[in-house]
Amino acid sequence: MKHETIVAISTPIGRSGIGVIRLSGSNSISIAQTLTQNSDFSPQPRVASLKKIYDSETDELIDEVIITFFKSPRSFTGEDVIEIACHGSPVLLRQTIDVCLKNNARLADAGEFSLRALENNRINLSQAEAIRDLIDAQTVGSARLAIRQLRGEFSKQLQPLKDQLLNVIVILESAIEFVEDDLPEFQNLAIKDSLTVISNKLTDLSATFKVGKLVRDGLRIVFVGRPNVGKSSIFNALLGHERAIVTNIAGTTRDSLHERLVINNIPISLIDTAGLRETTEVVESIGVERTKQTLADADLVVVVLDNSEPLHTEDFDIFEQVKDLLHIIVLNKIDIEGKIDLKSIGERIVEISAKTGEGLKMLENELVKPFSNEDINTKGFIVSDARHFDLLNRAKMEIDSTLSLMDKNLSEEIIVIGLHNAIRLLGQITGETTTEDMLTRIFSTFCIGK
Ligand code: GDP
Repeated sequence: MKHETIVAISTPIGRSGIGVIRLSGSNSISIAQTLTQNSDFSPQPRVASLKKIYDSETDELIDEVIITFFKSPRSFTGEDVIEIACHGSPVLLRQTIDVCLKNNARLADAGEFSLRALENNRINLSQAEAIRDLIDAQTVGSARLAIRQLRGEFSKQLQPLKDQLLNVIVILESAIEFVEDDLPEFQNLAIKDSLTVISNKLTDLSATFKVGKLVRDGLRIVFVGRPNVGKSSIFNALLGHERAIVTNIAGTTRDSLHERLVINNIPISLIDTAGLRETTEVVESIGVERTKQTLADADLVVVVLDNSEPLHTEDFDIFEQVKDLLHIIVLNKIDIEGKIDLKSIGERIVEISAKTGEGLKMLENELVKPFSNEDINTKGFIVSDARHFDLLNRAKMEIDSTLSLMDKNLSEEIIVIGLHNAIRLLGQITGETTTEDMLTRIFSTFCIGK
């Protein structure tokens, strides 16, 4: 398939030391010739050349750059690729892009370089997704998962299962074609054994998603409590820096604030809420509504109480709101004399002082405790993408229902359908059996220039 030549800025928007523009497609070289105003420019593959580039309309010098050529098929996309490392000024990067656009290139869509790499069999779909995840990784742990996937570990795990499945399909299909009677019992048993092994392996793989999701997406931890109990202060103490505005006027933390930190390799979004105080003030009541929604989406809710005041009815309202959610109770301001009857709460309480830092380490441990019984440092392959998890489960369901159809002694024609479905679903993970629509959807989650 002959494609248009695409161009994009592959480094982040904004000022930087260098900014890289990437071209892919058959016009890449001629565009580089236009830019350098040298029609004989024929860069050697994989060799960096220092060049001046010019505006093709005004002949003005734009920048002095390093141009590197990757000749098809030995490039990221499999097409001719030119990378231009300019000085990282947004203005001159834009100017250079404009020259490319005027000379037979068009702007790349999100993920289009990776899509071309996929189409030219340079990488498979799960590897393309790994590149996206690697770029998006927020922690060392999630980058590590992505790099394993990029190196093709997932395909390596799946290939033997697909081969085994295909063997079974071949036996069944040839029985349909050539065998007069039903398959002999010993062969049926062997098929069932194979399918059970495959089903168990799929279960093992999809079970790793619990850890994979945790490492990749992390936890949403929501703080709730009356105004002034010290939510923002705890939040800031955990982050180690001031971000939320801390004041002593009730109800000033109106918006939900988000901040990220990493505890025990688990990325965590801390969400500081407006509280649940019933109120007639409009701005604040919007905040209260939002808090209720935020609570519903939380992995863990942290209820904060103020040690310096007796429990309010509002505190009991909060207990009521969170009773069915996974939550912990934190007693703040233990540096001040206590006025709370702790026994009346009837739950374990983490005692801290945001002011002095006492108990903060304990709080950190408590935040990840419900989630850290899984070994996130396991050496085995870990599934971290919800799309892959879903496909593994669906493939397993097809195999399990095939097994139960075999127990009912149904004909091979019927039995084999589920196995074809299973192999198609597994193929969607690596992209062999993925439709155009699916690819468009998946690649729309990529960034431009990748
Ligand atoms: P929020 O409305 O729940 O977010 O509460 P803030 O974090 O804004 O804190 C309300 C007030 O309590 C501020 O004046 C804080 O300085 C004070 N405060 C917060 N934590 C502590 C603490 O551990 N000890 C003491 N003594 N004061 C605290």
